[in-house]
Amino acid sequence: MQQPKRVSLNHPIPPLKRKLPVRGLVIAALIPVFGMVTAYGIAPDTDTRNIPLQTSIENLVLPQDQETLPQGQVYHQQEKVIAGETLAGLLARIGVSEQDTSLLLSQNAGQIGRFLRAGQRIQAKVNDQGELLELLLTASDGSQYRVTRQGDNFLLDQPEEILETRIVMRSGRIDSSLFAATDRASIPDSVAVKMAEIFGTQIDFRDDLRKGDTFSVTYQINTRNGEPVGIGKVLAAEYVNGGKAYRAVLYRSPTGVESYYTPEGESLKKGFLRSPLEFSRVTSGFSNSRKHPIYGFHRKHTGVDFGAPTGTRVKATGDAVVSFAGRKGGYGNLVILRHQNGYETYYAHLNGFSKGIRRGTPVDQGDIIGYVGSTGASTGPHLHYEIRIAGNPHNPLTVKLPGSPPLPVAQKIRFQQQTAAWVQQLDQLRGTNLAALD
Ligand SMILES: [Zn+2]
Repeated sequence: MQQPKRVSLNHPIPPLKRKLPVRGLVIAALIPVFGMVTAYGIAPDTDTRNIPLQTSIENLVLPQDQETLPQGQVYHQQEKVIAGETLAGLLARIGVSEQDTSLLLSQNAGQIGRFLRAGQRIQAKVNDQGELLELLLTASDGSQYRVTRQGDNFLLDQPEEILETRIVMRSGRIDSSLFAATDRASIPDSVAVKMAEIFGTQIDFRDDLRKGDTFSVTYQINTRNGEPVGIGKVLAAEYVNGGKAYRAVLYRSPTGVESYYTPEGESLKKGFLRSPLEFSRVTSGFSNSRKHPIYGFHRKHTGVDFGAPTGTRVKATGDAVVSFAGRKGGYGNLVILRHQNGYETYYAHLNGFSKGIRRGTPVDQGDIIGYVGSTGASTGPHLHYEIRIAGNPHNPLTVKLPGSPPLPVAQKIRFQQQTAAWVQQLDQLRGTNLAALD
């Protein structure tokens, strides 16, 4: 039988926490965790302060445990439940005496065995007499069960939940696609999509991606008792596209509005998104004369066609008011948005409209207004997208689009305070992770 792994308190093992996988090209960052936050003085009203940074280094050196139990008497252990393992088997493996095992199994606390699942983490305190002092079992959804000893009785309870927001930093390199690279880096899809959205006004993630492009991203994960249960905000990101670096940091204004800026304080929110779809391929560009696939004759193509599966979500490319939503000849189901300064955008051949999209509805940039379809004069599912300025169509892929105002000068110091730490981290990620990818 495998010898139980015992570690005395003078050589504490890291507390139970999710070790994020490090594999392939992905290298995790070693960041001076708490020093980072204090050293750069995150502004008091940002919601990012006091968030413990989570690093994903395997051999993380942790501070010494402050508890002072006599050396050699109590052992803290962390183990994973093995497939098919019973509670008795587990207890034997971690060095609990047969006497205590049968005592536990004979009591209410023995029902903890029903919660055992392969791969589940357990923490135990066992003394050198084989007496079980405490057993903590964390289910995959983060819920915890705790067995504590009182004399010869074992008590079962559920300890208070610890909800935490942690910060994760990841880097990767493009080999084929963004998603392939983010998958390899164990970055959730929602973070990858967000990253593409953040840089969407600068980089076209459909066409501009180059093999060898690199990226780093810092984002929050929400945890329950140390188990990730949700993805929070992207706090900072860098994308190096064809050798040119783009960076973004999240900034929260005094009124609580959060948006992405370059580290120099230029807004990344443009008046318009470059594309109304998250990911797709341009199947037919803007042209002054092309053979129409249905009508057969040459005529102007007044927009851009994005090939995408039926049902793909279509986003408003800018803040606007709906000026038309309905059927219109060859356009099929069409949404027309009216923006400021005489700009209009057209979204045609839609399969359907989002709830509430009708003439007069205000929409924000990025709101879902409808779904890709093939209605009207269309040979297959795609989105026909137009930008008109003062009624004249312009090429959506090249037209100069109005920007968002830069950061007010009065907020420069606040901006620095909030974002300096993230910029520093991007530097470090590039220096360590990406260098290690070479
Ligand atoms: Zn078209």
